[in-house]
Amino acid sequence: MLTSIAGKSVIVTGGSKGIGKGIAKVFAAQGARVMIAARGAEAAEMAATEIREAGGTAEWLPCDVADWDSVKAMVERTAELFGGVDILCANAGIFPQVKMLDMSPEDWDGVMATNLKSTFLCVKACIPAFEKAGKGRVIVTSSITGPVTGFPGWAHYGASKAGQLGFLKTAAMELSRYNTTINAVMPGNIYTEGLQDLGEDYLKTMAASIPLKRLGAVEDIGNAALFFASDEAAYVTGQQIVVDGGQILPESLEAIEEI
Ligand code: NAP
Repeated sequence: MLTSIAGKSVIVTGGSKGIGKGIAKVFAAQGARVMIAARGAEAAEMAATEIREAGGTAEWLPCDVADWDSVKAMVERTAELFGGVDILCANAGIFPQVKMLDMSPEDWDGVMATNLKSTFLCVKACIPAFEKAGKGRVIVTSSITGPVTGFPGWAHYGASKAGQLGFLKTAAMELSRYNTTINAVMPGNIYTEGLQDLGEDYLKTMAASIPLKRLGAVEDIGNAALFFASDEAAYVTGQQIVVDGGQILPESLEAIEEI
């Protein structure tokens, strides 16, 4: 049993859908006060309402994580509303698929801005709150794609997700000054709105290539994030955990068929 995070103020970027919504629900179920930050009002409002109807505390704010002014305003408003920011879950991300021959420089920049630059912007914006509180936690949603595996069409995405892990090594050192830890969860294939957009064939093939024979649930990632946010993880920083049902383990198609 982990020490309770009840009452903590938590920002979840991309908390309106998918993994972010899963993290928001897991944290809210533990009594945390959750701020959902996303661009789309409808899904964000729905996610916050769902959490409140389940007895949790959740609000939402519009935010484009690729834009410094937007991120800064969202973090400052959260600190005002919740009396501080204890935990940042830098989760928002996109994964458009396009092979390099057709990938434009703008495609590359767009993915880098939303997935990688955003991680820096969100962490930077929270530093004053962590400094004021004398402590803080950051949990980054990275991926197995990039740091461990590759997939055609995701050169920019993989680079952005590996980049997040590069960022967190130095960030962990700088944040230690504010008694703040930063760690990353590396999901495999998790059943989300974004993943559903990749189509039934993709989902089926992926499930078949995972030793545990299923896609992950958003709560699987929420629970790993919860560990990094807990008092029990106070001495863990600059680290990452793969949560993928064993997906990165098989050495060949034969290996998975052997199971
Ligand atoms: P999703 O279902 O498409 O949800 C993405 C969330 O991010 C939405 O709330 C979306 O809301 C928000 N978002 C996107 N761009 C944003 C922006 N510029 N500013 C603010 N919010 C933004 O995606 P997901 O599958 O849950 O993925 C979430 C994270 O997990 C991503 O970082 C992704 O790389 C990572 N991940 C996912 C998987 C997987 O299997 N699903 C695997 C590995 C890693 P708005 O569009 O309304 O802004």
